Amino acid sequence: MDPGRVIERLKEIKAKRILLQLPDGLKPHVFDYFNELSKNFNVIVSSSGFYGACDTGTMDEWKNVDAVVQLGHTEIPNVNYKVPVIFEEYINEDHRSFNDLDLTELERNNYKNISLAYSIQYRQSAEELSKFLKEKGYNVSMGKHDSRLKYDGQLLGCNFSPLHDQESRNDCHIIVSTGVFHALGAQLSVEKEVFILDMSEPFRLRSMKSEAERHIRRRYANMARALEAKKFVVVVDTKVGQYRMKLAEKMIKEIQDMGKSAVLAYSNESSPVEFENMMADCIIFTGCPRVATDDFDRYKSPILTAQEFNMIFKKKGNGKYIMDEIVN
Ligand code: SF4
Repeated sequence: MDPGRVIERLKEIKAKRILLQLPDGLKPHVFDYFNELSKNFNVIVSSSGFYGACDTGTMDEWKNVDAVVQLGHTEIPNVNYKVPVIFEEYINEDHRSFNDLDLTELERNNYKNISLAYSIQYRQSAEELSKFLKEKGYNVSMGKHDSRLKYDGQLLGCNFSPLHDQESRNDCHIIVSTGVFHALGAQLSVEKEVFILDMSEPFRLRSMKSEAERHIRRRYANMARALEAKKFVVVVDTKVGQYRMKLAEKMIKEIQDMGKSAVLAYSNESSPVEFENMMADCIIFTGCPRVATDDFDRYKSPILTAQEFNMIFKKKGNGKYIMDEIVN
């Protein structure tokens, strides 16, 4: 974090009391950030977990502050944050040399045209990888972002617009990130092969094809359980960047038109226990699509994304899996 820049921006908006949000990876430094910002402002640290720039705290947390400072992410441009939020991006500075990167996977498949994308912490590393691949003779491009993203090539776990932009022009996609969260979502979202370059370990290109196929099979099994459902709960997440009320209301109407029952529910911290006593046959979660796709094992009732609902009840997708993405 550049404290000077954050302090300057907070002074510009005349903030006096602030809520500080840190991702788990930066929490070990909480005393340093708190002490630095406390020289100029009254600081309250949010100890709650938060999910990203879609989640800048609750109404209760905002009540007594003039602004939120969120470290580690960048804003979602089309979200109306309701309170001033200062985002301070965290760029991972652990530069790794790409010189020893094994490119056999690309050579074996004769992939020459590469679409490159990244999670926000690895923007710099993605630029360096792009340069490296170009020097090796590859054509490399980063796809254009839509209004939910700030940079070309940037990905969120709920938005892969740069990959859709490049899908028809390239042979494959490479995602620079850590862990498989973004890369798995990417492979569920596009047809061309997606490789993860995990910037932790193992530092190599790994295809996400088979993992995504396994995941899709498990999603279809979950969707099949919902086919006979009569009672649905359609959930709207109240987090500022996950709020899709219009979509939820449309689905409620569609379910009722099918002669089935549906209730509309608000949730802020979705967990299986919230829904257990509702005895619903199916939960449709319109907030973060990854709750349904990645955490479904934790729920007793089948839990679907909005697109999965469309696939099974409205026959969308022509047999192809559709990843739910938040695009506006
Ligand atoms: Fe990440 Fe989910 Fe929020 Fe999208 S909605 S930014 S995937 S936590």
